[in-house]
Amino acid sequence: MKSVKILFVSDKVVDHLYSSKIVEKHKDVDLIVGCGDLPYYYLEFILSMLNVPLLYVHGNHDPQQEYLADGTAIAGPTGGANLHGRILKEQNLLLAGLEGSIRYKDGCFQYTQKEMWLNVLALAPKLWLNKLVYGRYLDILVAHSPPYGIHNGEDRIHVGFRAFLWLMKTFKPRYLVHGHRHVYNPAEIIETQFEETKVINIYPYRVLEIEVPE
Ligand SMILES: [Zn+2]
Repeated sequence: MKSVKILFVSDKVVDHLYSSKIVEKHKDVDLIVGCGDLPYYYLEFILSMLNVPLLYVHGNHDPQQEYLADGTAIAGPTGGANLHGRILKEQNLLLAGLEGSIRYKDGCFQYTQKEMWLNVLALAPKLWLNKLVYGRYLDILVAHSPPYGIHNGEDRIHVGFRAFLWLMKTFKPRYLVHGHRHVYNPAEIIETQFEETKVINIYPYRVLEIEVPE
């Protein structure tokens, strides 16, 4: 079976990825996926070095606009595709995205539990259509926040979304990748199987080889 190599990045600039060494180390990567809370220049750098498609969702710390040296404002990494609320097919993989974290203050890229339910429900018709057309709903959900109760925190900033649990039960993506939760303790769990979905905390980066359905 064919497989696709994806470089996932999240939450923290990794020195060896933000250097020319990335070309040697990751030249076989087919796709780059950003899970949020990263400077746009970092994603653009990786994109320019590896020259493969970049998909991303915003994190709660992302600015609505980042300013370039010449004063130009950009709303995301130039050349990348914002996956929030959309489904894109890349290398025959079906990817959907849901940006942001739980709402804990004023600002963008934050949602209440109810608002995230609405985001998930807005995706649902497209997922059902995928099932008809491709025989499966979704391969990878790219999120910034973890699901409720999985890799999430007790505090109000890091609590996960309940709607993601329903999405996984109903649409059975093979992967849910997320960031938002920084991992400092090597004993902390970063991979959890939930029903048919492998939930993976990407912080600060992971390379996964994912099988592509025929
Ligand atoms: Zn975050």
